[in-house]
Amino acid sequence: MTSSARPLLNRSLAEFGTTIFAEMSALALRTGSINLGQGFPDTDGPEEVREAAVRALRDGRGNQYPPGPGVPELRTAVAAHQQRLYGLTYDPDTEVLVTAGATEAIAASLLALLEPGDEVVALEPYYDSYAACIAMAGARRVPVTLRPAEGRFRLDLDELRAAVTDRTRLLLINTPHNPTGTVLTREELAAVAELAVERDLLVVTDEVYEHLVFDGAEHLPLATFPGMRERTVTIGSAGKTYSFTGWKVGWVTAAPGLVTAVRSAKQFLTYVASGPFQYAVAEALALPGSYFADFRADMQAKRDLLASGLRDAGFEVFTSAGTYFITTDIRPLGESDGFAFCRALPERAGVVAIPNAVFYDHRDAGAPFVRFAFCKRTEVLEEAVQRLKTLAG
Ligand code: PMP
Ligand code: GLN
Repeated sequence: MTSSARPLLNRSLAEFGTTIFAEMSALALRTGSINLGQGFPDTDGPEEVREAAVRALRDGRGNQYPPGPGVPELRTAVAAHQQRLYGLTYDPDTEVLVTAGATEAIAASLLALLEPGDEVVALEPYYDSYAACIAMAGARRVPVTLRPAEGRFRLDLDELRAAVTDRTRLLLINTPHNPTGTVLTREELAAVAELAVERDLLVVTDEVYEHLVFDGAEHLPLATFPGMRERTVTIGSAGKTYSFTGWKVGWVTAAPGLVTAVRSAKQFLTYVASGPFQYAVAEALALPGSYFADFRADMQAKRDLLASGLRDAGFEVFTSAGTYFITTDIRPLGESDGFAFCRALPERAGVVAIPNAVFYDHRDAGAPFVRFAFCKRTEVLEEAVQRLKTLAG
């Protein structure tokens, strides 16, 4: 300890405390509750992908530092994936960068592209690392609140436009959206794109749930909209798509100048990560379309099971069109404070959930919303649903 009165943690991080995910997972462990808080699957992804990682380890591929931009096999596979699914062409050598999960891609993008004093317009509620990384870059976040209407959370396009000022440097977008489960519509995305072009803004778009869209909906990458290819940093991750969240393999696709900038920051964060897993993910990205279709169908059935259980328990349930998550409103249960509700839930029902208010600057706007993860085995969800029924009284 230093004897000075100055706090040890620097000012930009002081407001953030411990991430809600660590806090709530610890609460689940301590109370023996079912953890529907932190979003991670409770079963591993495809056996052949796990075996690919074992093979890479045994063959000595990736056991030493991989190349800074990522192994060529993975960069090529990422480019092929973007081409096959979305018709987006990226050069694996100059337009793809492998990162330590999407988390590092977000951090490196924001640290690379922002100057102190810049403003970043982000959709609120936002994934918690966005706020921390904007703060570490010395920039200022300007939240635009997604509001529920007709069963889903919507982007108010006038509010979005009004949030942009002369100091705005970039728009930080996330679709499919954590925690609300909303998937931005073509109209919403087109408006984001038009605004970015009109005001000459950079866009960082977090699309880690690109394969988790339900009810036959289609994921629309922002980079496919007119004028966006050159100004957009698109972030993906293997964690969600292949159910290996511990491997931490993510990537960025963008124009060469943007990738070079992001790599400049990334090289001083981890330099490189996840060597053998990069080879395994390269194979995973080439899995046939049936893998993605089966994965989506399985997750959609889990979503439906949990959504109907939550409805029976008395929650208002918003449509989850994508992601691992369902957002609920607790007011029909006679509650209004999501924090207090989530703190009491292990005791009341043996379940852990996340209070959405942590993802808001306007805490009041998020107070009554609570997020539940459905990326769990069916029997676990069934047990959770049974337990939650006790809330209905
Ligand atoms: N972005 C969003 C929206 C997320 O939900 C998450 C976490 N699941 C991440 C980024 C981080 O992804 P990764 O585990 O690949 O770092
Ligand atoms: N993305 C996961 C979630 O939203 C958690 C990741 C983390 O723990 N940082 O639950």
